[in-house]
Amino acid sequence: MLYDVLIVGGGASGLMAACALARKGRRVVLLEKQNRVGRKLLSTGNGRCNLTNLNASAGDYHGSRQAARAALKAWPPKRVMDFFGELGIPCRADEAGRVYPMSNQAASVLDALRLCCDERGVDTRTDFAVAALKRVGGGFEAASAEGQSVRARLSLVCTGGLAAPKLGACGDGYRLLEGLGHAIAPRFPAIAALKTPPEAVRGLKGIRAEGGIALLADGGIVREEAGELLFSETGVSGIAAMQLARQANEALRSGRRCAVRLDFMPGIDARRELMERSKALPLRRMEDFLSGIVPKRLGQTLAKAAGLDMALPAGELKPAQIDALAALLSGWTLPVTATLGFETAQVTAGGAVLKDFDIRTMQSLRCPGLFAAGEVLDVDGDCGGFNLQWAWSSALVAAEAMDALL
Ligand SMILES: Cc1cc2nc3c(=O)[nH]c(=O)nc-3n(C[C@H](O)[C@H](O)[C@H](O)COP(=O)(O)OP(=O)(O)OC[C@H]3O[C@@H](n4cnc5c(N)ncnc54)[C@H](O)[C@@H]3O)c2cc1C
Repeated sequence: MLYDVLIVGGGASGLMAACALARKGRRVVLLEKQNRVGRKLLSTGNGRCNLTNLNASAGDYHGSRQAARAALKAWPPKRVMDFFGELGIPCRADEAGRVYPMSNQAASVLDALRLCCDERGVDTRTDFAVAALKRVGGGFEAASAEGQSVRARLSLVCTGGLAAPKLGACGDGYRLLEGLGHAIAPRFPAIAALKTPPEAVRGLKGIRAEGGIALLADGGIVREEAGELLFSETGVSGIAAMQLARQANEALRSGRRCAVRLDFMPGIDARRELMERSKALPLRRMEDFLSGIVPKRLGQTLAKAAGLDMALPAGELKPAQIDALAALLSGWTLPVTATLGFETAQVTAGGAVLKDFDIRTMQSLRCPGLFAAGEVLDVDGDCGGFNLQWAWSSALVAAEAMDALL
């Protein structure tokens, strides 16, 4: 059978494109290498699926911002939410604009997409890893290593990136696109934990603290975030820290020295606070002195980093020692040596370069009839629903353009 469209990859973008095309009455085959579609979707937003963000703008994206802007213009968050509403998923937003399904369950988002595909007759083939995608006649043929093959007039590559291989990520899509004449920009983890020298964070594993975090490259501030910081035996994570991973990797890759500056008392005069505290609690020893401002173990680490004896009572602190402690409380600076890798990263920076695509349609300029959408392309967003917004909107742009061609 000759399908109208063959879609490689049954993740967020592939499922969305399949739904949109099938709703237009197109004959679609969806090829997924895992034994079920949409596995990564189930893990998004801690199982709640932060599916878009009301405030999304091109500035929330990296790589090709132009492509992100074009997709957002055609399919802004509100339009995507309306589409989900039509699929049976009413949405609601939190105070930061992050949008979730009303059910608060990622599984319901996946179910809605899956059910729409089934109801509209999409031929979903799981355990079908596309090993080759080539032009045949006026269309395309996708083949697996086991010898299965499928033909269609148009093809859409939605194979995702390299982040979270346990959920199916692999490099297949890049290879398929390269084979059809596409250039691939270098890939590295974005939205990932930051690695520091292990001795700097020794003993802090599992400690959480609220605060500000600034990424420094060669001493200059590259980006600042605020929120929860989570320490591990290898460094710092938590959303605020993970947001800095892309820029940290970029800076490290260009040979710049990276560090993070942590501020546990943003907006507060730490020196004055500590002066008053030492007067109010003169017998409190350094091992407990900061406990209550920050978690106890973190307080001890900072006191040690300030060179203070754990047994020293606060009443005996000298002004220079208070200065040193205050400087660490509001600006503890840790070198960043790397980020964690793709195994635990949420998103891939880099991918198929957008200059090879018409960003108004997501059609390839190298191979007519070939389209791509989602994370396989050189667009990545910040944390907060922006990556799924890109997956949905680029897929919907491609689906509309394919429908118009058929
Ligand atoms: C833990 C985690 C949490 C996240 N949470 C959020 C969130 O809350 N909000 C947000 O916006 N983003 C989130 N993201 C990012 C978001 O999930 C991805 O950006 C998005 O899923 C990308 O969609 P995609 O369709 O491009 O790729 P995927 O959803 O990764 O789908 C690609 C699919 O292609 C299949 N495939 C690959 N190669 C082949 C092949 N050769 N043949 C057949 N099939 C193939 C894969 O098995 C996979 O199913 C999160 C990511 C992770 C890892």
